Amino acid sequence: MNRFSDLRKAFPFFGRQKEGEERIYLDSAGTSLSLGCSIEAMEAYLNDYRANIHSGGYRSSMQASEAYESARREVARFIDAETPEELIFTAGTTDAVNMAANGWSRGQLGKGKAIVVTQAEHHSNFLPWRRAAQELGVPFRIIPVTEEGGIDYSKLEEIIDADCGLVAVTALSNVSGEVVDMESVIARAKACGARVFVDGAQAAARIPLSVRKLDIDFLAFSGHKCYGTTGCGILYGKRKLLEKLPPFRLGGGMVQWVDEKKAEYASLPARHEGGTPDIGGAVALGSALHFLRETGMEAIYRHECMLTKACTDALAPLAGVQIIDVTSRPHCGVVSFNIEGVHPHDAVTFLDSKGIELRGGLHCAHPLHTALHWNGSIRASFGIYSTEEEVETLIREIKNCIRFFR
Ligand code: PMP
Repeated sequence: MNRFSDLRKAFPFFGRQKEGEERIYLDSAGTSLSLGCSIEAMEAYLNDYRANIHSGGYRSSMQASEAYESARREVARFIDAETPEELIFTAGTTDAVNMAANGWSRGQLGKGKAIVVTQAEHHSNFLPWRRAAQELGVPFRIIPVTEEGGIDYSKLEEIIDADCGLVAVTALSNVSGEVVDMESVIARAKACGARVFVDGAQAAARIPLSVRKLDIDFLAFSGHKCYGTTGCGILYGKRKLLEKLPPFRLGGGMVQWVDEKKAEYASLPARHEGGTPDIGGAVALGSALHFLRETGMEAIYRHECMLTKACTDALAPLAGVQIIDVTSRPHCGVVSFNIEGVHPHDAVTFLDSKGIELRGGLHCAHPLHTALHWNGSIRASFGIYSTEEEVETLIREIKNCIRFFR
């Protein structure tokens, strides 16, 4: 038994499966299973010290505030941010991108400069920027994908130039599993004086990410894809950028002073955290990230790349199976494919009947599917608890699926 099969014990999901009715969960790109430690952290908040944060000098509130801020420190360590004040708790990646894009279009940061995204983006890192570009009246440029479905790096120089203010890019595609060449994209953006916004929704729990080493300006990710719970995510921003970004969520807790005419906003991070946050979710996320850090992100990356390769290698020779396989880049955690003559939803229903849970459809990435002339795909995605045996079972049932529908 390797170290990763031992890790399954850390997930209550597996212990609760009824014998003979075990499910194989292969939709970790949709949402990951929750770690026992993050569930316990949330339960402790709900059961033992339930109170609002930063709201007074009584014991439970102080305990909640300390747990919340301790989670923020854990997030800072996890992504190697300079200070915890650079971490804003959000409702998830989508919320974080919307916060940043709204601030970008209202503030001084992006004045007159184009916004660039890639054709491989999830809608969450596409639509908010397109609207920001519309509101600012600046061009919205798209770095295309190649015929294989990977980002076309040969277009970086042409598309990112001195007229660009921001490049928003995913670090790991939720469809192809491509590990994006962040170094090249960031180097080009920086050479042109543009800021970089990284969608880390798929990458955060799969790839070691250091915002300082990569010189990332903004980063977003979701707790529920990092073995935490739903409803809590992160917006990282460099201190001086978050200080310039007009707050999006106005309300309680984010001001120093308000009168009829003016408001003096609080300093970071409160400035961007109006309203009561998902306190339990933040504490759960802190606990999950601590677990991942202890496990080691390099080892996690290798484990998921190994499973991805095993799956891709086994699917590739099957007649009528087409995979999005970006051969020029490493792949991690996600494999999307099609079976000729079988609708993705039919394949998913068939696999579900065999106890395998994965997703079919467009995966909130219409531009990428359009570029490939695909009207959907079947997606298998892995987590730290996924095993080679599960991949083997998947492949066996895909072969049965092909036989069944032909
Ligand atoms: N970006 C990517 C690459 C994703 O895979 C997802 C989730 N599927 C999101 C953004 C949005 O994340 P959330 O739904 O947690 O806000």
